[in-house]
Amino acid sequence: ISDITGTKELERLKKIDQMKTEFLSTVSHELRTPLAAIKAYSESIVDSLEILDTETLKDFMETILNEADHLQNLLDEILDFSRLEMKTINIKKENFSINELIEEIYVANKNKAEINGVKLYKVLPKENIIVNLDRTRVKQILSNLIDNAIKYSDKRKDLKFIKITVKDEKDIVLILVEDNGIGIAKEHHDKIFEKFYRVDSSLTYEISGTGIGLSVVKELVEIQGGKIWLKSVEGKGTRFYIEFKKG
Ligand code: ADP
Repeated sequence: ISDITGTKELERLKKIDQMKTEFLSTVSHELRTPLAAIKAYSESIVDSLEILDTETLKDFMETILNEADHLQNLLDEILDFSRLEMKTINIKKENFSINELIEEIYVANKNKAEINGVKLYKVLPKENIIVNLDRTRVKQILSNLIDNAIKYSDKRKDLKFIKITVKDEKDIVLILVEDNGIGIAKEHHDKIFEKFYRVDSSLTYEISGTGIGLSVVKELVEIQGGKIWLKSVEGKGTRFYIEFKKG
């Protein structure tokens, strides 16, 4: 028996090692793309400053800024990932209103969703719900789920939406992030929270990513005493559930 478990463990380690190699190559690629755009646009500005009108210049600068933001997010995610792996992440709990936080997240993501043809909705309970958690981290968790919902929205659908719902359940607050995107086939449900795991399908192969986002999200939820799970039907959409104790 120990032989069988030994082989299995060896296979698991081999798999992780292979995923790490793939991860390094995707990350390099992911870093290279925005960097190339930043260089190309900066070069255009330097080379043709005299002939560029203000409008075009503003367009170019905005692209540079967007690509720099993208780079920063990617690096922040990798840094969080390694801090979680090394167990050196810092969690600062405070009392705050979930309702106010969701309002803030809604305002911050509404335009980004709309630009991508996705309508963002929010459903909040009347009562103010106070929790004792790391506000910045909860914001990061939900923003990441919204980013994914935008990224994996279904281009074939006319009406694309994301709905954030907060439910007050006695001692617990339940937050749902729901989309009608491409969905996730059942065989991947357990795996998508694993580090480096990405669904490989005809619908996802063009979408870039590192496969660490959801593993960071899960760790950040659990480190604060919460739980996260999902329901998803391929082709229909995905619903992520997050549960926290009230503060
Ligand atoms: P990635 O960098 O690939 O987006 P994540 O860890 O955030 O990595 O997600 C892991 C995988 O889970 C993704 O590659 C994608 O296949 C799937 N996924 C995540 N969120 C959604 C969603 N809202 N709808 C459909 N698939 C999703």
